Amino acid sequence: MKKKFLPLSEPSLAGNEARYVAECVASGWISSVGPFVDRFEKAFAQNCGAAHAVAVVNGTAALHVALLAVGVEPGDEVLVSALSFVAPANAIRYCGATPVFLDVDPNTWQLDEAKLERFLERECVRRGGRAVDKKTGRVIRAIVPVHILGSAARVDKIVALARRWGIKVVEDACEAVGTRYRGKAPGTFGDAGAFSFNGNKIVTCGGGGMVVTADEKLARRVRYLTTQAKDDPIEYFHKEIGYNYRLTSLPAALGLAQLERLGPLMDARRALAEAYDAEFAGSPITPMPRPEGVEQTFWLYTALLPSKTTIARRRKVIAALNAQGIGSRPLWHTLHDLPPFRKGRADKITAAAELYRRGVSLPSSPGQTPADARRCARALIALA
Ligand SMILES: *Cc1c(COP(=O)(O)O)cnc(C)c1O
Repeated sequence: MKKKFLPLSEPSLAGNEARYVAECVASGWISSVGPFVDRFEKAFAQNCGAAHAVAVVNGTAALHVALLAVGVEPGDEVLVSALSFVAPANAIRYCGATPVFLDVDPNTWQLDEAKLERFLERECVRRGGRAVDKKTGRVIRAIVPVHILGSAARVDKIVALARRWGIKVVEDACEAVGTRYRGKAPGTFGDAGAFSFNGNKIVTCGGGGMVVTADEKLARRVRYLTTQAKDDPIEYFHKEIGYNYRLTSLPAALGLAQLERLGPLMDARRALAEAYDAEFAGSPITPMPRPEGVEQTFWLYTALLPSKTTIARRRKVIAALNAQGIGSRPLWHTLHDLPPFRKGRADKITAAAELYRRGVSLPSSPGQTPADARRCARALIALA
């Protein structure tokens, strides 16, 4: 008998999703004005303990507009993790700024604050309250710590360093809905946080995003920029270039229903992680780290092949898993050596490169059972 295919991350829409979407259609308020957008923003702000939340079309737009709102300008540099989905690096470029890539901590897989500190001390000078890159003469305006895989960076330390250097912090918390670090939501430590509700994320709108901030002025600026920088309620008058980035009601209705089920959606993933961890104990596979102070969601459970594994070998393992009906993927290609960024600036990237070489993300959908996870884990061990 052919075993069922286990997708990497498939949404579960078993709650009020269909009901809220139908209500939204019946109300006629399907565009960017309507009760579901407000309800989704309020519920999300409350969930993560943020004073303000502004719903936008996707996580990439959230990052773009948050970077603009904290003052990133053409010619600036923005520090960012080298181990991430490409979106934050692209968003930095949309602002006309240049990403400067930093390495991650091999023990947590997240942006390494010790390497950040070393980079600032060695490569930068303070000039007029700003951090200036000695090599390029450019201002380092912001840093984007990316909280990956449902875990979190030690963002309190990153924010403290950034404050000392006059650098703004935009957290990429796109993969960290529901995660907590020292009891607080990633995305609420810095000046602004960006979240994604893409189809494969923990809470999905199909597509959607959110900017959160404690700063009312910044929230107002995000609303302004995402509604085409409209300056007058009647006249079509615009002092600046704006964007059509507001989320509409139909996806907000879906997202609100998803958010109501965040607890069970996280519990399902955590149960899979327990099963993976137990199966990998004593095997040649390294399980996902459990960094101190982090309540993880295990958005995508990711394990490491043995240290001698080459990229070619890891590709074969992933192909073999997929052929067995086990939806698996590598970690993201390190960003600093992708073609659009290759000529840019990067610190020494070693830990991220090793994780890219050895990492395998495994089925982590809320509809799967611990028995499914055990089957996937045994298949990976057999191929290691
Ligand atoms: C998903 C994701 C994004 C982008 O979100 P979209 O909603 O797909 O635009 C940004 N950063 C990270 C780390 C992500 O995983």
